[in-house]
Amino acid sequence: MLKRKKKKKVRKKKVKRARKARPSIKFPTKLLVPVGAFLQQRLKKLEKRKKDIEKEDPFQDTSRVTNNASPDTDAAEQFGHARTSAIKEHLEKKMIQTRKALARIKIGKYGICEDCKKMIDTDRLVIYPEATFCVKCEKEREK
Ligand SMILES: [Zn+2]
Repeated sequence: MLKRKKKKKVRKKKVKRARKARPSIKFPTKLLVPVGAFLQQRLKKLEKRKKDIEKEDPFQDTSRVTNNASPDTDAAEQFGHARTSAIKEHLEKKMIQTRKALARIKIGKYGICEDCKKMIDTDRLVIYPEATFCVKCEKEREK
């Protein structure tokens, strides 16, 4: 709890310091700690899902080599492999992004766009806490 302190009015205090080219914008630690914990947890979940999906990959099945499968089974395996590969790739991308966001927290740059260095919209961070680019720059990159 915050103690209420009576502050003396300092109206006359003028800020004469020259403005820095880039104001240091940071999220308070109070906010970053839970975000970091959340991202760590998400990373763990992603790692687990990746392992699970690897098990689902029919190509992981060692008996497959000796197995004289019918063309139908083969097609199903091909499809299953394509599916698990796509999911795996998606999970890996998410993991990279999550690690990146965690690294941003460490260096005190979380919530700041990697590209334009502007603050990322907090609404965006709520839905997409691992974001390291603002909406505008993200769209530019997708082009
Ligand atoms: Zn940006």
